[in-house]
Amino acid sequence: MFSLQNKTAIVTGGASGIGLAICRAFVQAGAHVHVLDRSMDNPETLFTAISHNAGGVSLHAVDVTDQADVQRVIGEIAGEGPVHILVNNAGIAHIGNAETTTEADFDRVFSVNVKGVYNCLNAILPHMRAAGGGVILNMASIAATLGLNDRFAYSMSKGAVLSMTLSVAKDYLPHNIRCNCISPARVHTPFVDGFIAKNYAGKEAEMFDKLAKAQPIGRMGTPDEIAALALYLCSDEAGFVTGCDYPIDGGVVRLST
Ligand code: NAD
Repeated sequence: MFSLQNKTAIVTGGASGIGLAICRAFVQAGAHVHVLDRSMDNPETLFTAISHNAGGVSLHAVDVTDQADVQRVIGEIAGEGPVHILVNNAGIAHIGNAETTTEADFDRVFSVNVKGVYNCLNAILPHMRAAGGGVILNMASIAATLGLNDRFAYSMSKGAVLSMTLSVAKDYLPHNIRCNCISPARVHTPFVDGFIAKNYAGKEAEMFDKLAKAQPIGRMGTPDEIAALALYLCSDEAGFVTGCDYPIDGGVVRLST
């Protein structure tokens, strides 16, 4: 429905889950997508999933916490032509409260979820300004505004993503750069399956059901549902939308009792 014909996009964390679904949707809409991910264990799967579609895809093995590498890769991509869209999607989760979260946990979560986003913003913004505009979409979470149980560092880090979104939206309004974020509740991705397998061996079905029922709508979201919103927000049809945080949460924020 929404076209990204002749657009170039960068998607971080695009090799799995929500990021992979966003890459697929963007390529189907006509964009050429540069995937930045630290894990390219299975690039052929990624290619098979999306390369037969219109826009095409390029893979870059990059850890978003490495500022020099992020600057180098984004500089090279921007050197080939304008980058119209950046999706800061790469993120990691962590379980723990303010007592059980160690300094190392804190630093690890913040280095990916906060500094990783900053690194990509810092690298792309001069190029978007020089090109006369662009669109940035950050992946926050309902944790940013709700503060989830036992997700101390994660919730804080996503709060920072929301703040960065607002700050960039304000600073770059005069440069024709829109910046928004999406705040999903639980979405069924490889991360969720890995979490259940690691922490609830033998009770996988029960835990899956519990996580699904945590959303008033009675199920988890799908990566494709998040990707559909991402596609709209990054398209020209969303030209009036900036500085916004979109919950996509099966009713968690407004309908939970
Ligand atoms: P996922 O684990 O399936 O995919 C995350 C991707 O990010 C992976 O490909 C991973 O290799 C990559 N990545 C992680 N650290 C990186 C780094 N330092 N540099 C480069 N790439 C890195 O996760 P997902 O569930 O698809 O989550 C994607 C985003 O959505 C995250 O920011 C997450 O916090 C957010 N989110 C997820 C959910 C959910 O329930 N799945 C809910 C709300 C928000």
